[in-house]
Amino acid sequence: MNKRGHVLNAVLLSIGLGYVLDPSGDVSTFATIAEVFLPVVLGALFPDVDTAFGKHRKTLHNLPVLLIFLAHPVYHGGNLQWVWLGVLTHYVLDIVGSKRGIALFYPISSTEYGFPTGVTTSSDRAEIVTVAITIFELAAVAALVYVLPTYLPPGATELLTNAFGSVA
Ligand SMILES: [Zn+2]
Repeated sequence: MNKRGHVLNAVLLSIGLGYVLDPSGDVSTFATIAEVFLPVVLGALFPDVDTAFGKHRKTLHNLPVLLIFLAHPVYHGGNLQWVWLGVLTHYVLDIVGSKRGIALFYPISSTEYGFPTGVTTSSDRAEIVTVAITIFELAAVAALVYVLPTYLPPGATELLTNAFGSVA
């Protein structure tokens, strides 16, 4: 997916996330959107830095990089909260929405993983595919926030809350 697609995905995801985490639709919903907007958009732009440094779709498109972003707020408090979601959504869009996959297990393996659902980044359908993927992501986040905690022990819920930030 190109930069435009990643930004569109991150912007829509942030707005949807505001409503998932705070469905009231009043000022607090907009405060939540404002809180997640910048980190998610910045996170979504980060992986393609490897077009300039390293091997594109490998160096910054893998699970170890995602783990670093996930672990950072857990170990260092509120700093870099939500950036991991931008990185994750970038990966999802590259895997599901574009023809070429990404090297999830780099540097252990250089194999690129992608779904056959993808379209080329220049395709007319790139934007509608991006919107469809964003809707699926929001459904997954809603399930994670509202359904999963009822099946998890309290300690696991706390860990999830840390990863998702104070607003969850
Ligand atoms: Zn990418």
